[in-house]
Amino acid sequence: MAYLFGPIPSRRLGRSLGVDLIPRKTCPFDCVYCEVGPTTSKTLARREYHPEAIIRELEAYLATGPDLDVITLAGSGEPTLNTALGSIIQAIKRLADTPVAVLTNGALLFDPEVRRELGAADVVLPSLDAAREETFQLINRPPAGYTLSRLLAGLEAFRREYPGQVWLEVMILQGVNDQEAELAALRRAIERLSPDTVQLNTAVRPVVEDWAAPVSAREMEAIAAYLWDGAGVIASFQAAPAKDSPVTDARFLEMLARRPMTAADLAQVLGLPLNSVKKRLRSLCESGLISHNFYQDQGFFRSLPGSGFQSKS
Ligand code: SF4
Repeated sequence: MAYLFGPIPSRRLGRSLGVDLIPRKTCPFDCVYCEVGPTTSKTLARREYHPEAIIRELEAYLATGPDLDVITLAGSGEPTLNTALGSIIQAIKRLADTPVAVLTNGALLFDPEVRRELGAADVVLPSLDAAREETFQLINRPPAGYTLSRLLAGLEAFRREYPGQVWLEVMILQGVNDQEAELAALRRAIERLSPDTVQLNTAVRPVVEDWAAPVSAREMEAIAAYLWDGAGVIASFQAAPAKDSPVTDARFLEMLARRPMTAADLAQVLGLPLNSVKKRLRSLCESGLISHNFYQDQGFFRSLPGSGFQSKS
């Protein structure tokens, strides 16, 4: 599949079919905590990316009657950069009654057309990692001239106009935005936005910059309680294992091209015994198709360029 991935176990959404609307690392931001890698095309310019091919792939996949909790527009770049965003959401609505979620960094919410296109989604999950200019620039590394006030104005306009659910995600990084002044500013910004829920994340997977370090689980709980009544720390995978079989090497490689995963992650989403997943991963490592690295004491696997699944345009 060129544009669909998964279903994967989403920490926020359950069993999620991902739809990748944008070429890899085409994004207005270059976040220090990005799991996909450094941004290679930093842009705010919207363009049409392959709507017919994306919808054809969705039609074929959804016709198989898959067991899904949600269809998530996300992937390895910023989905709102695709001018076909609205028509793709409308197409999914015609094809299935599965809720549609959109993960966005919120950078383009200042654009009324983007806000209008997102209107048909059931839930939008924008990010807000800082409410002080300097910290926003440090974490999200937007294009020159793009300010925090532009991001906040877009978020606030979207919140006013959008009838669906807004789940705000905040990435907390040790020593960067976990201090009192940072959190107080974030709290005020969240109060103004008044989202339906706030979900806190931290750098638990391999990220772009080594200094973007995670905060402990206990601190995360305390920060969640301080920031917003009912805010939660994004938990581990909760969806039931899938029963997709046989599972090909290509499926492993495709999943590991999207984001780094542990053997346990893969066992969970593929519905396979952990031992057999470990065996397969060993053989893919020996074939030079995937890499294995440790991050925060956990082993993560990811596809290498020679696997044919490293990137697409
Ligand atoms: S984390 Fe999201 S917004 Fe940030 S650089 Fe990566 S893809 Fe872009």
